[in-house]
Amino acid sequence: MVIITLQRNKCIGCNYCVEMAPSQFQMSKKDGKTVLLHGIEKKGFFTLKSNDFNILEACENASKACPVNIISVKIN
Ligand code: SF4
Repeated sequence: MVIITLQRNKCIGCNYCVEMAPSQFQMSKKDGKTVLLHGIEKKGFFTLKSNDFNILEACENASKACPVNIISVKIN
């Protein structure tokens, strides 16, 4: 399983994650921060668990590209 976590409140809206992984991230027009699509929120952290390993590389690239380091990608 691929587990992606986003600490959304620290997002500065640079859009890099959307460029790297457009299937998982989308900019919010409301507050200019990224949205982890289908992510479930708990105490400010959004988490997506997926069995689709095809998303792994793009999400790892998004994690590396994020200038404030708020995207984590783990395999379980
Ligand atoms: S790369 Fe990081 S700071 Fe930039 S929009 Fe995505 S989550 Fe926000």
